[in-house]
Amino acid sequence: KTYIVIGAGILGASTAYHLAKEGRNVTIIDRGEPGQATDAAAGIICPWLTQRRNKAWYFLAKNGAAFYPSLIKQLEEDGEKETGYQRVGAISLHCDQEKLAKMEERATVRREDAPEIGEVRQLDQQETNELFPLLSEEYASVHVTGGARVNGRLLRDALLNAAQRHGASIVKGNAQLESSGEKVTGVKVGDTRYEGDSIILTAGAWAPELLEPLGIKLSISPQKAQIIHLMLENTETGCWPVVMPPNNQYILAFDGGRLVIGATHEDDHGFDRRPTLGGMHEIIDKGLTVAPGLADATYLETKVGFRPVAPNFLPIIGTIPGYENLFLANGLGASGLTVGPYLGAQLAKLAAGEDLELDPEQYDVSGAITDNIS
Ligand code: FAD
Repeated sequence: KTYIVIGAGILGASTAYHLAKEGRNVTIIDRGEPGQATDAAAGIICPWLTQRRNKAWYFLAKNGAAFYPSLIKQLEEDGEKETGYQRVGAISLHCDQEKLAKMEERATVRREDAPEIGEVRQLDQQETNELFPLLSEEYASVHVTGGARVNGRLLRDALLNAAQRHGASIVKGNAQLESSGEKVTGVKVGDTRYEGDSIILTAGAWAPELLEPLGIKLSISPQKAQIIHLMLENTETGCWPVVMPPNNQYILAFDGGRLVIGATHEDDHGFDRRPTLGGMHEIIDKGLTVAPGLADATYLETKVGFRPVAPNFLPIIGTIPGYENLFLANGLGASGLTVGPYLGAQLAKLAAGEDLELDPEQYDVSGAITDNIS
Protein backbone atom coordinates (compact mmCIF):
# COMPACT_ATOMS: atom_id res chain seq x y z
CA LYS A 1 0.00 0.00 0.00
CA THR A 2 1.28 3.48 -0.84
CA TYR A 3 0.68 6.71 1.05
CA ILE A 4 0.90 10.29 -0.22
CA VAL A 5 1.13 13.08 2.35
CA ILE A 6 0.35 16.58 1.00
CA GLY A 7 1.83 19.32 3.17
CA ALA A 8 5.04 19.09 5.19
CA GLY A 9 4.45 21.38 8.15
CA ILE A 10 4.66 19.88 11.63
CA LEU A 11 1.53 17.81 11.07
CA GLY A 12 2.47 16.28 7.71
CA ALA A 13 6.09 15.74 8.78
CA SER A 14 4.96 13.83 11.86
CA THR A 15 2.40 11.80 9.90
CA ALA A 16 4.99 10.86 7.27
CA TYR A 17 7.60 9.99 9.89
CA HIS A 18 5.27 7.67 11.77
CA LEU A 19 4.13 5.93 8.58
CA ALA A 20 7.69 5.53 7.27
CA LYS A 21 8.97 4.27 10.60
CA GLU A 22 6.44 1.43 10.33
CA GLY A 23 8.01 0.50 7.01
CA ARG A 24 5.23 1.94 4.85
CA ASN A 25 5.75 3.39 1.40
CA VAL A 26 5.43 7.18 1.75
CA THR A 27 5.72 10.14 -0.63
CA ILE A 28 5.58 13.64 0.87
CA ILE A 29 4.65 16.58 -1.36
CA ASP A 30 5.16 20.20 -0.29
CA ARG A 31 5.24 23.40 -2.30
CA GLY A 32 7.26 25.41 0.22
CA GLU A 33 4.67 28.05 1.10
CA PRO A 34 6.54 31.02 2.55
CA GLY A 35 3.78 31.55 5.13
CA GLN A 36 3.97 28.00 6.49
CA ALA A 37 2.83 28.21 10.12
CA THR A 38 5.41 25.72 11.34
CA ASP A 39 8.25 27.71 9.85
CA ALA A 40 7.23 30.97 11.54
CA ALA A 41 6.28 29.44 14.87
CA ALA A 42 8.34 29.50 17.98
CA GLY A 43 7.23 27.28 20.10
CA ILE A 44 5.69 27.15 23.59
CA ILE A 45 4.77 23.70 24.83
CA CYS A 46 2.92 24.47 28.05
CA PRO A 47 -0.82 23.78 27.76
CA TRP A 48 -1.63 23.15 31.42
CA LEU A 49 -2.13 26.67 32.74
CA THR A 50 -4.73 27.75 30.24
CA GLN A 51 -8.25 28.66 31.31
CA ARG A 52 -9.67 27.18 28.12
CA ARG A 53 -12.20 24.60 29.26
CA ASN A 54 -12.85 22.64 26.08
CA LYS A 55 -12.15 19.02 27.04
CA ALA A 56 -11.56 17.74 23.51
CA TRP A 57 -8.94 20.44 22.95
CA TYR A 58 -7.24 19.82 26.29
CA PHE A 59 -7.06 16.08 25.56
CA LEU A 60 -5.01 16.82 22.43
CA ALA A 61 -2.86 19.50 24.04
CA LYS A 62 -2.09 17.43 27.12
CA ASN A 63 -1.28 14.31 25.10
CA GLY A 64 0.65 16.44 22.63
CA ALA A 65 2.92 17.82 25.36
CA ALA A 66 3.35 14.38 26.94
CA PHE A 67 4.25 12.88 23.55
CA TYR A 68 7.34 15.06 23.08
CA PRO A 69 10.00 13.38 25.26
CA SER A 70 9.48 9.95 23.66
CA LEU A 71 9.35 11.43 20.15
CA ILE A 72 12.59 13.35 20.71
CA LYS A 73 14.23 10.18 22.02
CA GLN A 74 13.10 8.24 18.93
CA LEU A 75 14.42 10.96 16.63
CA GLU A 76 17.76 10.91 18.43
CA GLU A 77 17.91 7.15 17.99
CA ASP A 78 17.24 7.77 14.31
CA GLY A 79 20.34 9.98 14.23
CA GLU A 80 18.65 13.40 14.47
CA LYS A 81 20.68 15.54 16.85
CA GLU A 82 18.98 18.89 16.28
CA THR A 83 15.32 18.59 17.17
CA GLY A 84 14.91 22.14 18.48
CA TYR A 85 13.16 20.93 21.64
CA GLN A 86 14.20 21.80 25.15
CA ARG A 87 12.46 21.57 28.48
CA VAL A 88 13.50 24.88 29.99
CA GLY A 89 10.41 25.36 32.16
CA ALA A 90 7.86 28.16 31.89
CA ILE A 91 6.89 31.09 34.09
CA SER A 92 3.39 32.49 33.91
CA LEU A 93 3.46 36.09 35.16
CA HIS A 94 0.95 38.14 37.11
CA CYS A 95 0.82 41.06 39.54
CA ASP A 96 -2.33 39.78 41.21
CA GLN A 97 -1.66 37.31 44.04
CA GLU A 98 -5.12 35.82 43.85
CA LYS A 99 -4.77 35.07 40.13
CA LEU A 100 -1.40 33.44 40.76
CA ALA A 101 -2.87 31.26 43.50
CA LYS A 102 -5.68 30.15 41.16
CA MET A 103 -3.17 29.40 38.42
CA GLU A 104 -1.05 27.31 40.78
CA GLU A 105 -4.14 25.44 41.93
CA ARG A 106 -5.24 24.72 38.34
CA ALA A 107 -1.81 23.36 37.46
CA THR A 108 -1.60 21.28 40.62
CA VAL A 109 -4.99 19.68 39.93
CA ARG A 110 -4.08 18.98 36.31
CA ARG A 111 -0.79 17.48 37.41
CA GLU A 112 -2.63 14.51 38.88
CA ASP A 113 -3.13 13.05 35.42
CA ALA A 114 -0.32 14.98 33.72
CA PRO A 115 2.85 14.31 35.70
CA GLU A 116 4.84 15.75 32.79
CA ILE A 117 3.97 19.20 34.20
CA GLY A 118 6.85 18.63 36.61
CA GLU A 119 7.18 20.85 39.68
CA VAL A 120 4.63 23.65 40.13
CA ARG A 121 5.61 26.52 42.42
CA GLN A 122 4.87 30.19 42.98
CA LEU A 123 7.88 32.49 42.70
CA ASP A 124 8.05 35.98 44.18
CA GLN A 125 9.18 39.04 42.19
CA GLN A 126 12.85 38.52 42.94
CA GLU A 127 12.91 34.81 42.11
CA THR A 128 10.99 35.53 38.89
CA ASN A 129 13.52 38.17 37.89
CA GLU A 130 16.43 35.88 38.59
CA LEU A 131 15.03 33.35 36.13
CA PHE A 132 14.40 35.94 33.41
CA PRO A 133 16.41 39.12 34.10
CA LEU A 134 14.78 41.42 31.51
CA LEU A 135 11.37 41.49 33.18
CA SER A 136 9.69 44.42 34.85
CA GLU A 137 10.12 43.97 38.60
CA GLU A 138 6.43 44.04 39.42
CA TYR A 139 5.70 40.46 38.32
CA ALA A 140 5.56 37.36 40.45
CA SER A 141 4.90 34.04 38.69
CA VAL A 142 3.95 30.40 38.70
CA HIS A 143 6.88 28.25 37.61
CA VAL A 144 6.20 24.98 35.82
CA THR A 145 9.35 22.93 35.28
CA GLY A 146 7.87 20.70 32.56
CA GLY A 147 7.19 23.62 30.19
CA ALA A 148 9.25 23.49 27.02
CA ARG A 149 10.15 25.41 23.91
CA VAL A 150 10.53 24.06 20.42
CA ASN A 151 11.87 25.51 17.19
CA GLY A 152 9.21 24.43 14.69
CA ARG A 153 11.52 24.49 11.71
CA LEU A 154 14.20 22.31 13.31
CA LEU A 155 11.68 19.76 14.54
CA ARG A 156 9.96 19.64 11.14
CA ASP A 157 13.31 19.05 9.43
CA ALA A 158 14.31 16.38 11.93
CA LEU A 159 11.03 14.53 11.29
CA LEU A 160 11.41 14.82 7.51
CA ASN A 161 15.06 13.70 7.57
CA ALA A 162 14.20 10.73 9.76
CA ALA A 163 11.24 9.86 7.51
CA GLN A 164 13.59 9.86 4.52
CA ARG A 165 16.02 7.65 6.38
CA HIS A 166 13.13 5.20 6.83
CA GLY A 167 12.54 5.25 3.07
CA ALA A 168 10.11 8.14 2.48
CA SER A 169 10.62 10.37 -0.55
CA ILE A 170 10.02 14.11 -0.75
CA VAL A 171 8.70 15.95 -3.79
CA LYS A 172 8.75 19.73 -4.04
CA GLY A 173 5.79 21.21 -5.88
CA ASN A 174 2.14 22.12 -5.92
CA ALA A 175 -0.11 19.07 -5.45
CA GLN A 176 -3.51 18.69 -7.07
CA LEU A 177 -5.91 15.85 -6.46
CA GLU A 178 -7.13 13.62 -9.28
CA SER A 179 -10.43 11.93 -8.70
CA SER A 180 -12.79 9.62 -10.43
CA GLY A 181 -16.26 9.18 -8.99
CA GLU A 182 -15.87 9.12 -5.23
CA LYS A 183 -12.25 8.02 -5.16
CA VAL A 184 -9.06 10.03 -5.34
CA THR A 185 -6.97 8.16 -7.84
CA GLY A 186 -3.73 10.06 -7.63
CA VAL A 187 -1.96 13.36 -7.15
CA LYS A 188 -0.52 15.57 -9.85
CA VAL A 189 2.51 17.81 -9.40
CA GLY A 190 3.07 19.69 -12.65
CA ASP A 191 3.17 17.03 -15.36
CA THR A 192 4.05 14.21 -13.01
CA ARG A 193 1.43 11.90 -11.61
CA TYR A 194 1.83 10.06 -8.29
CA GLU A 195 -0.25 7.00 -7.49
CA GLY A 196 -1.33 6.52 -3.92
CA ASP A 197 -3.71 4.12 -2.24
CA SER A 198 -4.22 6.56 0.62
CA ILE A 199 -3.97 10.33 0.26
CA ILE A 200 -3.42 12.37 3.41
CA LEU A 201 -4.07 16.11 3.46
CA THR A 202 -2.02 18.09 5.96
CA ALA A 203 -2.00 21.30 3.96
CA GLY A 204 -2.71 23.71 6.84
CA ALA A 205 -4.48 26.95 5.97
CA TRP A 206 -4.26 26.10 2.24
CA ALA A 207 -6.24 22.83 2.47
CA PRO A 208 -9.55 24.30 1.21
CA GLU A 209 -8.13 24.98 -2.27
CA LEU A 210 -7.09 21.32 -2.62
CA LEU A 211 -10.63 20.13 -1.96
CA GLU A 212 -12.42 22.72 -4.03
CA PRO A 213 -12.12 20.79 -7.34
CA LEU A 214 -13.94 17.88 -5.65
CA GLY A 215 -16.83 20.22 -4.88
CA ILE A 216 -16.03 20.23 -1.16
CA LYS A 217 -15.96 23.44 0.84
CA LEU A 218 -13.75 23.09 3.90
CA SER A 219 -14.06 25.85 6.46
CA ILE A 220 -10.49 26.31 7.52
CA SER A 221 -9.34 29.91 7.62
CA PRO A 222 -5.90 31.49 7.84
CA GLN A 223 -5.16 33.55 10.93
CA LYS A 224 -2.21 35.82 10.26
CA ALA A 225 0.53 35.89 12.91
CA GLN A 226 3.51 38.24 13.02
CA ILE A 227 6.39 37.39 15.32
CA ILE A 228 9.63 39.27 16.02
CA HIS A 229 13.15 37.87 16.45
CA LEU A 230 15.70 39.77 18.53
CA MET A 231 19.33 39.29 19.56
CA LEU A 232 20.68 39.98 22.98
CA GLU A 233 24.42 40.57 22.57
CA ASN A 234 26.89 38.72 24.79
CA THR A 235 24.23 36.98 26.83
CA GLU A 236 23.72 33.25 27.09
CA THR A 237 19.97 32.74 27.07
CA GLY A 238 19.74 29.01 26.30
CA CYS A 239 18.43 28.03 29.75
CA TRP A 240 15.97 30.88 30.25
CA PRO A 241 12.38 29.73 30.74
CA VAL A 242 9.48 30.48 28.45
CA VAL A 243 7.63 33.61 29.62
CA MET A 244 3.84 33.76 29.53
CA PRO A 245 2.72 37.28 30.48
CA PRO A 246 -0.84 38.20 31.51
CA ASN A 247 -1.53 39.64 28.05
CA ASN A 248 -1.70 37.12 25.20
CA GLN A 249 1.92 37.72 24.13
CA TYR A 250 4.94 35.59 25.02
CA ILE A 251 8.71 35.74 25.16
CA LEU A 252 10.97 32.84 24.31
CA ALA A 253 14.71 32.62 24.63
CA PHE A 254 16.81 30.34 22.43
CA ASP A 255 20.54 29.56 22.45
CA GLY A 256 23.09 32.28 21.82
CA GLY A 257 21.05 35.35 22.82
CA ARG A 258 18.18 34.84 20.34
CA LEU A 259 14.82 35.97 21.68
CA VAL A 260 11.41 35.66 20.07
CA ILE A 261 8.43 37.83 21.02
CA GLY A 262 4.94 37.62 19.67
CA ALA A 263 2.59 37.02 18.20
CA THR A 264 -0.36 38.79 16.61
CA HIS A 265 -3.73 37.12 15.99
CA GLU A 266 -5.12 38.73 12.83
CA ASP A 267 -8.33 37.37 11.38
CA ASP A 268 -9.76 38.43 8.03
CA HIS A 269 -6.39 39.37 6.51
CA GLY A 270 -6.34 36.44 4.09
CA PHE A 271 -2.85 35.41 3.03
CA ASP A 272 -1.32 38.88 3.35
CA ARG A 273 2.36 38.12 4.04
CA ARG A 274 3.47 41.66 4.89
CA PRO A 275 4.93 42.48 8.27
CA THR A 276 3.05 45.66 9.20
CA LEU A 277 3.95 48.59 11.41
CA GLY A 278 0.71 48.15 13.36
CA GLY A 279 1.40 44.46 14.01
CA MET A 280 5.01 45.07 15.01
CA HIS A 281 4.01 48.00 17.20
CA GLU A 282 1.56 45.83 19.10
CA ILE A 283 4.18 43.13 19.71
CA ILE A 284 6.94 45.57 20.69
CA ASP A 285 4.67 47.62 22.91
CA LYS A 286 3.39 44.60 24.80
CA GLY A 287 6.89 43.09 24.93
CA LEU A 288 8.50 46.19 26.41
CA THR A 289 5.74 46.61 28.98
CA VAL A 290 6.44 43.15 30.33
CA ALA A 291 10.21 43.16 29.78
CA PRO A 292 11.73 46.65 29.64
CA GLY A 293 15.15 44.98 29.42
CA LEU A 294 14.32 44.13 25.78
CA ALA A 295 14.90 47.77 24.85
CA ASP A 296 18.59 47.13 24.21
CA ALA A 297 18.06 44.00 22.09
CA THR A 298 18.99 44.10 18.40
CA TYR A 299 16.05 43.77 16.00
CA LEU A 300 16.66 40.84 13.62
CA GLU A 301 13.51 40.09 11.65
CA THR A 302 9.73 39.80 11.62
CA LYS A 303 8.25 36.52 10.43
CA VAL A 304 4.72 36.00 9.21
CA GLY A 305 2.83 32.71 9.30
CA PHE A 306 -0.78 31.58 8.91
CA ARG A 307 -2.36 29.50 11.65
CA PRO A 308 -4.98 27.10 10.25
CA VAL A 309 -8.18 27.70 12.21
CA ALA A 310 -11.18 25.33 12.23
CA PRO A 311 -14.70 26.10 13.50
CA ASN A 312 -14.69 26.49 17.31
CA PHE A 313 -10.86 26.51 17.26
CA LEU A 314 -10.92 22.72 17.61
CA PRO A 315 -8.65 20.53 15.45
CA ILE A 316 -10.31 18.05 13.12
CA ILE A 317 -9.18 14.58 12.03
CA GLY A 318 -10.88 11.97 9.90
CA THR A 319 -11.83 10.71 6.47
CA ILE A 320 -13.41 13.08 3.97
CA PRO A 321 -17.08 12.03 3.75
CA GLY A 322 -17.70 10.10 0.56
CA TYR A 323 -13.98 9.53 -0.11
CA GLU A 324 -12.72 6.40 1.59
CA ASN A 325 -9.06 6.90 0.78
CA LEU A 326 -8.81 10.62 1.55
CA PHE A 327 -7.68 11.48 5.08
CA LEU A 328 -7.26 14.85 6.69
CA ALA A 329 -6.27 16.62 9.88
CA ASN A 330 -6.24 20.38 10.28
CA GLY A 331 -7.23 23.33 12.42
CA LEU A 332 -4.23 23.27 14.76
CA GLY A 333 -4.62 26.99 15.39
CA ALA A 334 -2.41 28.58 18.02
CA SER A 335 -1.33 25.31 19.64
CA GLY A 336 -0.18 23.35 16.61
CA LEU A 337 3.39 22.83 17.71
CA THR A 338 2.04 21.32 20.93
CA VAL A 339 -0.59 19.14 19.26
CA GLY A 340 0.96 18.49 15.81
CA PRO A 341 3.45 15.69 16.50
CA TYR A 342 0.86 13.68 18.47
CA LEU A 343 -1.99 14.30 16.04
CA GLY A 344 0.32 13.33 13.16
CA ALA A 345 1.02 10.00 14.86
CA GLN A 346 -2.75 9.49 15.21
CA LEU A 347 -3.36 10.43 11.59
CA ALA A 348 -0.78 7.87 10.51
CA LYS A 349 -2.69 5.23 12.46
CA LEU A 350 -6.00 6.32 10.93
CA ALA A 351 -4.64 6.09 7.38
CA ALA A 352 -3.08 2.69 8.14
CA GLY A 353 -6.39 1.35 9.49
CA GLU A 354 -5.18 1.04 13.09
CA ASP A 355 -7.03 1.98 16.27
CA LEU A 356 -6.71 5.56 17.52
CA GLU A 357 -6.11 6.76 21.06
CA LEU A 358 -8.56 9.59 20.55
CA ASP A 359 -12.27 9.55 19.87
CA PRO A 360 -12.61 10.70 16.22
CA GLU A 361 -16.21 11.80 16.78
CA GLN A 362 -14.92 14.62 18.98
CA TYR A 363 -12.90 16.01 16.06
CA ASP A 364 -15.32 15.24 13.27
CA VAL A 365 -14.25 16.49 9.83
CA SER A 366 -17.81 16.85 8.57
CA GLY A 367 -18.33 19.71 11.04
CA ALA A 368 -15.87 21.74 9.00
CA ILE A 369 -17.46 20.91 5.65
CA THR A 370 -19.98 23.69 5.34
CA ASP A 371 -21.27 23.16 1.90
CA ASN A 372 -21.07 20.84 -1.03
CA ILE A 373 -20.34 23.08 -3.96
CA SER A 374 -21.55 20.63 -6.61
P1 FAD B 1 1.65 24.41 8.15
O1 FAD B 1 2.83 24.40 9.05
O2 FAD B 1 1.16 25.73 7.69
O3 FAD B 1 2.01 23.50 6.89
C1 FAD B 1 1.16 23.37 5.77
C2 FAD B 1 2.02 22.97 4.59
O4 FAD B 1 1.18 22.55 3.51
C3 FAD B 1 2.89 24.09 4.02
O5 FAD B 1 4.25 23.70 4.10
C4 FAD B 1 2.45 24.24 2.55
O6 FAD B 1 3.55 24.47 1.68
C5 FAD B 1 1.82 22.88 2.29
N1 FAD B 1 0.80 22.90 1.24
C6 FAD B 1 -0.41 23.49 1.26
N2 FAD B 1 -1.08 23.27 0.12
C7 FAD B 1 -0.27 22.52 -0.67
C8 FAD B 1 -0.39 21.96 -1.98
N3 FAD B 1 -1.51 22.10 -2.72
N4 FAD B 1 0.66 21.27 -2.49
C9 FAD B 1 1.79 21.10 -1.77
N5 FAD B 1 1.95 21.60 -0.51
C10 FAD B 1 0.93 22.29 0.04
N6 FAD B 1 1.84 26.47 18.35
C11 FAD B 1 2.21 26.10 19.61
O7 FAD B 1 1.88 24.98 20.04
N7 FAD B 1 2.96 26.90 20.39
C12 FAD B 1 3.36 28.13 19.97
O8 FAD B 1 4.03 28.85 20.71
C13 FAD B 1 3.00 28.57 18.66
N8 FAD B 1 3.40 29.78 18.20
C14 FAD B 1 3.09 30.16 16.92
C15 FAD B 1 3.57 31.37 16.44
C16 FAD B 1 3.31 31.76 15.13
C17 FAD B 1 3.87 33.06 14.62
C18 FAD B 1 2.52 30.92 14.29
C19 FAD B 1 2.24 31.30 12.87
C20 FAD B 1 2.02 29.73 14.78
C21 FAD B 1 2.28 29.33 16.11
N9 FAD B 1 1.81 28.11 16.63
C22 FAD B 1 2.20 27.69 17.88
C23 FAD B 1 0.86 27.29 15.86
C24 FAD B 1 1.51 26.25 14.97
O9 FAD B 1 2.65 26.78 14.38
C25 FAD B 1 0.54 25.78 13.86
O10 FAD B 1 -0.70 25.41 14.41
C26 FAD B 1 1.12 24.55 13.13
O11 FAD B 1 2.43 24.81 12.72
C27 FAD B 1 0.26 24.16 11.93
O12 FAD B 1 0.91 23.12 11.27
P2 FAD B 1 0.37 22.47 9.92
O13 FAD B 1 1.34 21.41 9.57
O14 FAD B 1 -1.07 22.13 10.07
O15 FAD B 1 0.41 23.66 8.83
